[in-house]
Amino acid sequence: MGINKIGDKMIKIIKGDITNQETQAIVNAANTTLLGGGGVDGAIHRKAGKELLEECKKLNGCKTGEAKITKGYNLRSEYIIHTPGPVWKGGDKGESKLLENSYRNSFKLAKEYNIKTISFPSISTGVYRFPKELAAKIFKKVALEFQESFETIYMVCFDNQTYDIYKREMEK
Ligand code: ADP
Repeated sequence: MGINKIGDKMIKIIKGDITNQETQAIVNAANTTLLGGGGVDGAIHRKAGKELLEECKKLNGCKTGEAKITKGYNLRSEYIIHTPGPVWKGGDKGESKLLENSYRNSFKLAKEYNIKTISFPSISTGVYRFPKELAAKIFKKVALEFQESFETIYMVCFDNQTYDIYKREMEK
């Protein structure tokens, strides 16, 4: 289901659990400590194993909107890119720019590591309460900017509602 396609470069919106993805990298919606948490972060740490936490402890955290990379350990992905997205505080605290930074800095880091296939979760739209429609617009904008540099970019949605929102946005 290539929602958006330039030549053989694709952005795919899929439903599933990002910890099962076989792309070279998966992105983690982390928090600024990088020491694990709930939601997708917890799922990634559980599946990757304790060695991930050991590597994360050496990174001294990560600022909101920035990104850091680790190995994937027991995951099928070689790398995990960790980015803390913004907590939604009503929209006038620079949240949109920060979410854009999370996507952009994740893509930049992936390019530096010559990663060609990458999977994203819907950053910030869980516990951090960022509105999903706006998040989907931001993802689309940045993914289109980087599309040429990747074979396949996946947006892995965990629930139907999120999936429908991203799919609708990509079809616009
Ligand atoms: P944040 O704190 O950035 O909001 P959450 O983990 O709370 O992060 O939620 C981000 C999104 O990830 C939500 O849409 C949530 O449903 C989704 N999610 C949770 N677990 C997984 C998973 N295993 N794979 C993909 N997405 C997941």
